[in-house]
Amino acid sequence: MKSTIIEKAKEVIDKRRFYADSYAIKNKAQAFEDPIFKELYQKYTENMIECAKLGKEMSDEVKALKQKYYARLKELKLPSIDPDYSCKKCNDTGFVDGKYCQCLIREINNILKKESGFLSFEDFDNVKFEVFGEDDSMKKLYAKMKSWCHSDFHKNLIFIAGDTGVGKTHLVKCMANELIKLNHIVYLTTSFAMHQDFVKSYSTRDLEQKNQLLDRYLNCEFLFIDDLGTELRLPNITLNYLYQVINERKMKRLPTIITSNLDLYNIKDYYDERIASRIIDKATSICVYIKGDDIRLKKA
Ligand SMILES: [Zn+2]
Repeated sequence: MKSTIIEKAKEVIDKRRFYADSYAIKNKAQAFEDPIFKELYQKYTENMIECAKLGKEMSDEVKALKQKYYARLKELKLPSIDPDYSCKKCNDTGFVDGKYCQCLIREINNILKKESGFLSFEDFDNVKFEVFGEDDSMKKLYAKMKSWCHSDFHKNLIFIAGDTGVGKTHLVKCMANELIKLNHIVYLTTSFAMHQDFVKSYSTRDLEQKNQLLDRYLNCEFLFIDDLGTELRLPNITLNYLYQVINERKMKRLPTIITSNLDLYNIKDYYDERIASRIIDKATSICVYIKGDDIRLKKA
């Protein structure tokens, strides 16, 4: 994603680094008030620089100096002068070997979660299969979807159809959660909300805003579209934008997970042949239909 979401997440990480550095600087200034510490520390840095210039590793003498100044800090009961970064993997830079660090991915997901309105996800480990009755087909489906979350995503479109209340949203919330645990970037949205962004993107003349509004749908690593078919259909918008999202994601091999009350036959009627054929594409899609009663009624 090119979007501002990554920048926002990076700001959170940068702030952490800033606070850790500032705190370390403050601690160092306090420690420098002690002449013994100051002398040890300065000797240590001079030697360090000397070693670096010569391209040598830290000598035993330098190591000993470091030990000494640490001991002096302890004696003075002063806090460490090293920055205490929240993430030890990236030292609060957000990147490891040029790739997003887990801490940055976590922040990106937090922002996407807040913006999506889906504040709580579910966990595969806590699913109570009793609500689905005697039939164990749901158990099998949950297992299949969990293993997909751990796959190579060669199958990059999952279409889950079924009547209202059969548990489609619950299932995708488990999947979203599982993918986040595996450090993927996930955006879960309703078809209704996505469509509102389509309308905004269509209506604006500002090209940057136009693209910005579509960015997460076109570029987010994993996109979940809940309840396809419940949006307000508009000419010139619905079919074109939906096709663009599904098609571009397929071409970029970015996984898309769709739930709908419409089955595949109805998708073709409700939208068009192009959209249906991208969804149905046997080689790269998994389509499932959940039969069953309304669990929410059963629970009640
Ligand atoms: Zn990190």
